[in-house]
Amino acid sequence: SRRPRAYEVAARRAGAPPRPLSLDEPTSAALDGVDGLLLTGGDDVDPALYGEAPHPTYDVSEPGRDAFEIDLVRRALAADLPILAICRGLQVLNVALGGTLIQDIPSEPGGLLQHDAAGPANTLAHSVAITPGSCVAALVGPGESRGVNSRHHQAIRALGQGLVVTGTSPDGVIEAAGVPAARFCVGVQWHPENFKAGEFDRLFEGFVDACRRRPERAGGSPRPT
Ligand code: MN
Repeated sequence: SRRPRAYEVAARRAGAPPRPLSLDEPTSAALDGVDGLLLTGGDDVDPALYGEAPHPTYDVSEPGRDAFEIDLVRRALAADLPILAICRGLQVLNVALGGTLIQDIPSEPGGLLQHDAAGPANTLAHSVAITPGSCVAALVGPGESRGVNSRHHQAIRALGQGLVVTGTSPDGVIEAAGVPAARFCVGVQWHPENFKAGEFDRLFEGFVDACRRRPERAGGSPRPT
């Protein structure tokens, strides 16, 4: 499996040395003593988990990863543990809450934008209109529209329970969503970890701030999965 180095660097820069989780760990103990859950990018969530047959473009994930991460999301939300969900992470969050996904954006009617952009990882591919007043609006800087990178062929279709849309691209694709009832549950469809000049540092800093504010903090540190 790939080492999610960019996520680790970004978390560390925000003040939180991460501890990657292993799919071999039991989920019942994986979150003991940690302060937050960072869900990283990756391949596709099994569409059977939201009641659909796979599209021909289905990119199968590591065996066991879907169930592992979905269980972690439910446990983290139940424990009011802060969650930052990136790309596949946002899709996992949505499916864990009963939502569905667009399985392949290029196969959708209506000529949607290119969301799987080539080039360097921080290439700006499209803009995102950020919902004013949302949690993510406070974290991505001034203005209601931000340029983002984009390396995904899936996105949220039907929202899971408790999730609200906090950002969309000009073609209507959901690019950010979160759970306002949670202490901190922020998901973005782009890759903030690929920006090294501070463009999206506030997303990671806001996540780490929320981790530090947990009243029952046990002294651990946020971990990506
Ligand atoms: Mn996109």
